[in-house]
Amino acid sequence: MINEIDYATMTITKRWRQFFVETAREELFPTEIELKDYTTFGVGGKAKNAFFPTDIKQLEKILFLSKRYELPYYVLGRGSNTLASDDGYGGVLIALRNNFSQIDFKGETITAQAGALTCQLAKLACERSLCGAEFLALLPASVGGAVTMNAGCFGYSFSDLVVSVEATNGNGVEVFTANKCGFGYRKSVFQENGYVIGSVKLKLKRADKQNIETLTKSLRAKKYSQPLGERTAGSVFLNGEIPSAKLIDECGLKGFSLGGAEISAKHANFIVNRSNATQKDISTLIDIVKNTVFEKKGIILDTEIKFLGD
Ligand SMILES: Cc1cc2nc3c(=O)[nH]c(=O)nc-3n(C[C@H](O)[C@H](O)[C@H](O)COP(=O)(O)OP(=O)(O)OC[C@H]3O[C@@H](n4cnc5c(N)ncnc54)[C@H](O)[C@@H]3O)c2cc1C
Repeated sequence: MINEIDYATMTITKRWRQFFVETAREELFPTEIELKDYTTFGVGGKAKNAFFPTDIKQLEKILFLSKRYELPYYVLGRGSNTLASDDGYGGVLIALRNNFSQIDFKGETITAQAGALTCQLAKLACERSLCGAEFLALLPASVGGAVTMNAGCFGYSFSDLVVSVEATNGNGVEVFTANKCGFGYRKSVFQENGYVIGSVKLKLKRADKQNIETLTKSLRAKKYSQPLGERTAGSVFLNGEIPSAKLIDECGLKGFSLGGAEISAKHANFIVNRSNATQKDISTLIDIVKNTVFEKKGIILDTEIKFLGD
């Protein structure tokens, strides 16, 4: 009987074997993926155990079994804030993307699954003359990633739109109202509470479609100071009182490159994968920036991007 197994004393191989037996029983099968194809940096090795659940029940099951067998796991949205290891990832990768991307409208309320693209949500909202989501058109994010990171720009934050978040910790599904999400600057409880977001309920407002389009355009124009269209993961460092880009620029690091990675000559808080960069190139650049800014300015920079790897 499965309940009689002492999971803690099982060897790692046995735990993996039992995990695969149980996931297969639920018709959940892992695939092997190249992380460079699933992250906007375009770097990273193989993830052998990637699961693509299609609903919250499957998501809950994978999470439950990962925890039961004490296997490491990582939730990947659109990979636009993730630096994946050259050595890949040997844990359970839970990928929430097109497979998990339903967006439903009911009046001014939107329910979006975690894997939905924020720019798709913004487009559909605009088509329905709903305003408030214009800034989402500029982010290459999944809805789940945008909640977790409380993504935003130009004074707008994802948290401004959230009514509630449905999430699972593998032992049931819970609804977090916005005030229970612990939103702050690039912060939410989901970065540390072990819950995985399945869907989000948002509230927008009615507005003239023309005005929505005009605002989207003007926000897009402001983004031209960033290296859009390049292989990057957005801001590498969190901003403090002095913007990180200014600090890095003042240290003379703008345009500095190492291997195939470069501190963007356009925006110093972005690192771009210029030509076949490796994760190690990018990680080394991050260390150089941190050390230089500390030596020259006495300021410790904290990274915004998340690391995926063993
Ligand atoms: C060109 C470019 C421009 C950008 N501009 C901005 C900007 O203006 N403002 C801004 O805030 N960000 C910006 N970003 C960064 C990025 O788009 C955001 O951080 C975004 O929210 C990440 O979403 P994602 O789905 O890609 O997350 P991922 O990189 O896949 O994951 C990020 C983190 O969220 C966790 N996570 C993902 N999905 C879930 C889930 N369903 N449940 C629980 N945890 C989850 C992951 O485990 C990881 O810790 C930019 C990135 C790029 C490439």
